[in-house]
Amino acid sequence: MIPTQKISDVFDKATREFSASGAFQELVTGRGSKPFVHEFISDVFRTHYLSSHIVALCYAVLPSGAAAALLKENLLEEIGRSDTERAHSELLLELARGSGFSQPEIDKLIDAARRQAAVFCAARVPFATLREICLAVLLETMSFEFMLSRCSSQIAAALENHYGIAKAALRWFELHSEVDIRHAEEGLTVIQHYVRFHQMSDATFQRILRLTFEGDAFGRRYFPPASTSRAQPVSPSVKARQIESITIHQLRIPFRHSFSHALQSREESDAVIVRIKDADGQLGYGEALPRPYVTGETTATMIAHLGKRLAPQIFKQTITPGWEIFDYLQSVFPRWTQSEPQDAGVIAWNAAFCAVEIALLDWMTHRLKISLADFLPPARFEVVYSGVISADAPKDAAAIARRLVKLGIRAIKVKIGTENDVARLRAVRQAAGDEANLRADANGAWSAEEAVQRLMELESFNLQAVEQPVAAADIAGLKMVREKSGLPVMVDESLVTAEQARLLIEQRACDLFNVRLSKCGGFTGSLALVKLAQEFGIKVQVGAQVGETGILSAAGRTLAAHLPELAFAEGSFGTWLLSEDITFDNVAFGYGGAAPLLKTRGLGVTINDESLDRLAVNKIELQR
Ligand SMILES: [Mg+2]
Repeated sequence: MIPTQKISDVFDKATREFSASGAFQELVTGRGSKPFVHEFISDVFRTHYLSSHIVALCYAVLPSGAAAALLKENLLEEIGRSDTERAHSELLLELARGSGFSQPEIDKLIDAARRQAAVFCAARVPFATLREICLAVLLETMSFEFMLSRCSSQIAAALENHYGIAKAALRWFELHSEVDIRHAEEGLTVIQHYVRFHQMSDATFQRILRLTFEGDAFGRRYFPPASTSRAQPVSPSVKARQIESITIHQLRIPFRHSFSHALQSREESDAVIVRIKDADGQLGYGEALPRPYVTGETTATMIAHLGKRLAPQIFKQTITPGWEIFDYLQSVFPRWTQSEPQDAGVIAWNAAFCAVEIALLDWMTHRLKISLADFLPPARFEVVYSGVISADAPKDAAAIARRLVKLGIRAIKVKIGTENDVARLRAVRQAAGDEANLRADANGAWSAEEAVQRLMELESFNLQAVEQPVAAADIAGLKMVREKSGLPVMVDESLVTAEQARLLIEQRACDLFNVRLSKCGGFTGSLALVKLAQEFGIKVQVGAQVGETGILSAAGRTLAAHLPELAFAEGSFGTWLLSEDITFDNVAFGYGGAAPLLKTRGLGVTINDESLDRLAVNKIELQR
């Protein structure tokens, strides 16, 4: 049996760290600004408003013995038994009102609390079974009771004395203060019984305990590191740091089957992985797949650009984890991606930027022990990917279409711009059925006149959109295809920089943007394009790179989930295409093309360094 002392030691340590943190001290000593306190109340509200639902979940998975009775008691208190013993959620409403929140603000808070529960349910979890997930939930819930029984009078006193919140509004804190210490101790017993009821091994218990408390268990809820109103960092561990080394891995991962389109045929992945490391050994991983016919970068020139121009800049910078990194990336983006006169053929160094940017974001979110999605919150609870069929022989294309349909995928993109387009599309339409939503990508194979002619021949296949019918630079051609074919036109190769995006919009040359991290300069470049698209009513597809590993797929997932309007998503093929991936986690989409949110640390994937090293055909190590 797990001794309660062992659990209480962990709770106690987390509580001491929390109360010593800069943010907690800022709050209780009265140094917090008005927005900081406002945000703190919001975070307390969001954390606890649905507590009764969470306790109910814990109650449901411990249907046995005295501990269940304790949980039931806890649940009844949360729900509120009478007018004199009111629901805790009502006390939180009082706290919000008493702290000056307007009704619309409170409605938003309630919505945020509900949304948080939905995101929790939609995110992939690192545990395999419900008993493990619920143990993590139980540990966190009970640890809050423990912490509050030791800290909430201090918080309430500060809110009353320093920030003028009326005592009547602070009843929730009072209820959870030292007067509730019995409850906190009972929580330890409940956990002990839970572990025994589910016959969990000590190793499993320790693993979940460690994962749950590895980070800043309380601070991440009450003072989220993504917050913008705090004066000081949440804990000293997130202080500014320098990057000590950058390792570039040029990979070669064989495909399970070749993939071709009008411009290229591939048998293997040529991903470039960037791994950065700080002095404490904290790592961050990024990825890009340079395409000479898109941004003008080749693997060799991209690696040279990383080594000669970007690495020295990164090494001399002191970087503070948090929003500052987004500001920093935005400020360096024009300079780091700009093609200089000597960079013949390069439109922008967007792939190079993407690899470094994602590595920095992965590093900093690991430093903060949060997910990238905490900075770029999801606007949806899953991402649904399209299937993509390469420019294969019609019977092979049909076979893939049948497999996709079997997998429940209803949106399929077919590569065209080759001799047998009609036969391929006919085969795909027959195999996929009338219900399937088909679109086509010509990768710039045609002239405008030719495109109009060819698309007429494809009319009976009921395409939803055509991607890049003409060459990247042929803006007038795009416009003509759009007007004459009547089909929505998506730009891909034509869309690398914001200047190009503006020109495309100005010329009314397209209906959709295909935004891809590696092509558009990571999140910094891509989000700028999305902003333009939103402003001018252009729809957005989040695209991918053929052969991307789990790193870029995970980043693409976060981007696609974050966009409120998303026409299509592509990518996350994982080991449907790669013979092996370099992440332990399988990020590939599942039935219906659907894939869950990634909300664990960093990008939400764990990199297998052994595979990364083994699959690298070239490895370059740069030191500060
Ligand atoms: Mg394309």
